[in-house]
Amino acid sequence: MIPAVKLNNGADMPLVGLGTWRSEAGELKEAVQVAIGAGYRHIDGAYVYQNEQEVGAGIHAMIQQGLVKREELFVVSKLWNTFHLPSLVRKGCEKTLSDLKLDYVDLYLMHFPVGIKPGDELFPVDETGQVHADDSSFLDTWEKMEELVDAGLAKAIGISNFNKDQIETILNKPGLKYKPANHQIECHPYLSQEKLINYCRSKGIAVTAYSPLGSPDRPWAPKDEVSLLDEPVVKAVAKKHNKTPAQVLIRFHVERNVIVIPKSRTPSRIKENIQIFDFKLNDDDMKSLLSLNKNWRGFEMDWASQHKDFPFNADY
Ligand code: NDP
Repeated sequence: MIPAVKLNNGADMPLVGLGTWRSEAGELKEAVQVAIGAGYRHIDGAYVYQNEQEVGAGIHAMIQQGLVKREELFVVSKLWNTFHLPSLVRKGCEKTLSDLKLDYVDLYLMHFPVGIKPGDELFPVDETGQVHADDSSFLDTWEKMEELVDAGLAKAIGISNFNKDQIETILNKPGLKYKPANHQIECHPYLSQEKLINYCRSKGIAVTAYSPLGSPDRPWAPKDEVSLLDEPVVKAVAKKHNKTPAQVLIRFHVERNVIVIPKSRTPSRIKENIQIFDFKLNDDDMKSLLSLNKNWRGFEMDWASQHKDFPFNADY
C-alpha cells in the first residue's frame, strides 16, 4: 500500500501517482491498467491532455475485473483555462466527469491562474504567440470551484502553477469557503521550490511535484538538452543505492513528503517508478540533489507571459 498525505479535507492522497500527459490514444488505457495492477491508486489527468476517455476506460476495466474499487482510487483532473468564466466552470468539470465516466473526482485543480478566451481552441493565440485572455478573475473561478465540492462533483479542490502572492489572494478572499487542498507545481532537483513548498506547508496546502523526471519528452525540449535522468549527481546516488536515476528522482519527493506523479506509458517503467519504498535517501544524498537547483523550468508558459495573471515573474 502506497503511503499517503492527509489533505485539509481529511482525504488521503497517495504519495505517488501516474502522470498521463502525452500518453497517446491506444496506449493510455493499458498504462492505467498496468499502473493499478502494480499498486498505483492515484491517477493525474487533465481536460487539456485530451485523453481522459482513455483514463476512464482503464479505470473502469480494472473496476469491472474486481481488481480495485472506485473508492480506493484517487483521481485528479484539472479545469482548463478556457473554462475560467464563472458560467463555464461546472461545464468544464462535467465534461471531464463524462469523459472519465465517473460521478466525482477526488481532486479538481485550477490548471493555471490564467483565464483564456473560451471556445474549442485550447490555446487561442495572437500573431505574437500570446494567448487571448478572457476577462475572468481567478477568485471568481475559485468560488465556482467551491460549488463543485458542494455539488459532490469534486471531493477536494486545489490549484496548479500559482505563485505565492496568488495563493495568498485566494486565502484572503472574503467569504472563502474552502482553502486549496493541494498545489501542483513543477518540481525536481533543477527546480527545488523550497520557498513555495514551505509556504504551502505553512498554510496546510499539500504539494504535488509534476515533471519529476524533467519532462524529457516535452515537445519543445532542445535537441541537445542533457536530461535530468543523465545528471551525474543523480546517477551517482542511484548507483550507490542500486536503483535507477528515475527511482532516485521520484524518491527525492517522498523524502520531502511531496506527492509525485511521474508519467510513463511503458509498462516496465510504470512498475519501476513505484518501486521506491524499499530504500531511503539520507541527508547527504538529499543535500547533493538539492544542490543541483538552478531554478530551471521545463514549463515556462511563454504563451501567457503578457497575461495579467502570469505566475512566473515572482521570486516564488
Ligand atoms: P516526467 O518528468 O514525468 O517525464 C516523463 C518522461 O519520462 C516520458 O518521456 C517517459 O517516457 C519518461 N520516463 C518515465 N519513467 C521513466 C523511467 N523509469 N526511466 C526513463 N524514462 C522514464 O514528465 P511530465 O511532464 O509528463 O510530468 C508528469 C505528469 O505531471 C504529467 O504526465 C502530468 O500528469 C503532470 N503535469 C502537470 C502539469 C501542470 O501544469 N499541472 C504540467 C506538466 C505535467 P515513456 O512515457 O515513453 O515511458
